[in-house]
Amino acid sequence: METVKLNNVLVSEKPDGIEGAGFFATSLDKVVGLARKNSIWPLPFATSCCGIEFMATMGAHYDLARFGSERLSFSPRQADLLMVMGTIAKKMGPVLRQVYEQMAEPRWVLSVGACASSGGIFDTYSVLQGIDRIIPVDVYVPGCPPRPEQIIDGILKIQDLIGNESLRRRNSPEYKAMLNKYGIE
Ligand code: SF4
Repeated sequence: METVKLNNVLVSEKPDGIEGAGFFATSLDKVVGLARKNSIWPLPFATSCCGIEFMATMGAHYDLARFGSERLSFSPRQADLLMVMGTIAKKMGPVLRQVYEQMAEPRWVLSVGACASSGGIFDTYSVLQGIDRIIPVDVYVPGCPPRPEQIIDGILKIQDLIGNESLRRRNSPEYKAMLNKYGIE
């Protein structure tokens, strides 16, 4: 699915389907995916410098609102994308994990920057060497720090995942087994 320009406004193109005079038919998966991917509510879990890059991403110049993600949520219960940006100390690990567990399904995780993804330059006893040791991650954004363009690229990749995800995936044995590996019910 791509965006098209209509009266100078970018709109999402309709999903694949069958159409004729006065009707258009497609699958429920595609319609739900289209709505979800263009209305992501991110929870910014920003602990250090990568968070500053995210602030730039939300500003007028880069304007994450263009992708339907301008509504940040600081409540996990009203968020569907956890964006982890910054160094995560081991003491902070349980807090991050609790935030993830409080989010309702479907939820996605974007790991922004080297620190969140691998501990970055902080190869030390006190820093978690990647958030995927405690929660599942959907997309990793490289860089130290990643530029706002890279963060937007990560959001676009998350949008692709959301738009193509089957509605049955979250109830599948494979998905439950993956969560169980993290000790999450
Ligand atoms: S990856 Fe670099 S810029 Fe981002 S939080 Fe770590 S040290 Fe800071």
